[in-house]
Amino acid sequence: MYWECPYCGQGQTVTSPNFSQIQMHFEIEKPESGEVGLRGQAIRCANPECNRLEIRAEIVRAAFSSGHYYIPTNAKILHRSRLLPPSFAKVLPDFIPAVLRDDYEEACKICDLSPKASATLARRCLQGMIRDFCGISKNRLIDEVNALRKLLADDNAPRGVSEESVEAIDAVRDIGNIGAHMEKDISVIIEVDADEARTLIELIELLFEEWYIAREKRRMRLSKVVAIKEAKDSTKLIAKEASNERPNE
Ligand SMILES: [Zn+2]
Repeated sequence: MYWECPYCGQGQTVTSPNFSQIQMHFEIEKPESGEVGLRGQAIRCANPECNRLEIRAEIVRAAFSSGHYYIPTNAKILHRSRLLPPSFAKVLPDFIPAVLRDDYEEACKICDLSPKASATLARRCLQGMIRDFCGISKNRLIDEVNALRKLLADDNAPRGVSEESVEAIDAVRDIGNIGAHMEKDISVIIEVDADEARTLIELIELLFEEWYIAREKRRMRLSKVVAIKEAKDSTKLIAKEASNERPNE
């Protein structure tokens, strides 16, 4: 199982000493919800400098067989929460504007509790990104996305905005009410479920990565190259000055 640590962001393949699962059926007969159970999962980060635990809890549908209830491997998940860390938000670097980070973190925090509020914040965050990173500002998010697509077609899109990132926005637009969410005014709240809200958050994470983080990496690489060139130039200059001081050679 591939997993990305929510604390340090390191991607890794989870192996058994770092993963543990417990599950049980609640022995209460015929509740309104039907027979359910609880499943808990703990994953430890394999990065020795991190070594922290993620703990998730799921309420799952129990199955009945040979006279008793049990939790099947593919049990339907009725509710899922992350207990540790309390929000599934990734820790974002400081060079991403604070207003975007705040909307993103808040959207993550309330995703399970209130998907429609989460999606509203996520949509505002997405709009903020298009305005800040791409310099496009229109009334509706959908108009901004269309303007961005036009820039891309005309070869005028800001660096880092790839065909893929606009396709990712389009793909999310096709999912349930999220599409309607993008077409309506930002103040209109639309019913979405937690999975839809989560999809919108994943889109934002992808764009943070492809736009802001990639741009910063390019900047870092460039400034390294410039520093090397400057160091070389100054060495050459010193060598030249040294040879000028020896006119008799
Ligand atoms: Zn970690």
